[in-house]
Amino acid sequence: MRTIEEMFLEMKKIADEEGYMFTPNKEELDSILAGLRENEQRYGYPLCPCRIGSGELAKDMDIICPCNYRDADIAEFGSCLCTLYVGGEWGNTKAHEPVPERRAQENFIKGYQAIMEQKGAGGKDMAEVYRCTVCGYLCARDEPPELCPICRAKKERFEKFGMK
Ligand code: SF4
Repeated sequence: MRTIEEMFLEMKKIADEEGYMFTPNKEELDSILAGLRENEQRYGYPLCPCRIGSGELAKDMDIICPCNYRDADIAEFGSCLCTLYVGGEWGNTKAHEPVPERRAQENFIKGYQAIMEQKGAGGKDMAEVYRCTVCGYLCARDEPPELCPICRAKKERFEKFGMK
C-alpha cells in the first residue's frame, strides 16, 4: 500500500502534466491526503474524502480522485469540492465560496453505474460514455478525462462506449 508521500508524489506528477495545482494550505492538504489514503486502505481505491461512497468500485467510479467533477468545478469555482486541486487564481483570493456538490443526488442513491446505464437506455440527458481501452474504466462526461483515474492512461486511449 502506498504511503501518503508516495501517493502525493504520484498525484503531483500527474497534476504537473495536467497543469493543475494543489491547495497552498499545508494543513488542508495534509488532511485531504490523509483522507484519501484512509479511503484507499479501506476500499482499495482513493475515494473522494469529502463524499460518502458506496464502497463498490462500479458505483463510485465518478468520485475516485481526481473525480469527474474536478475540472468543471475548478473552471467555475476555482477549486474542486474538497479544495485539494485549485486553479491559478486561487492563491490571489482570500475568501472562497464553498463549492456546491456537482454530483447528482441520484448518483448517491443508485450509484454511478446505474445512472450511466439509464442514460444509455433512455437516450436523454446524454453525456457521452467513454471507456478507457487500457483498463476498462467507464465515465459519462462531455469528453474523456485527461488521464484515466484508475490506470493513468492518456485521454487518447479512451473511446466512445455504447451503453445497451
Ligand atoms: S478532485 Fe474530486 S475526488 Fe479529488 S479531492 Fe477534489 S473533489 Fe475530491
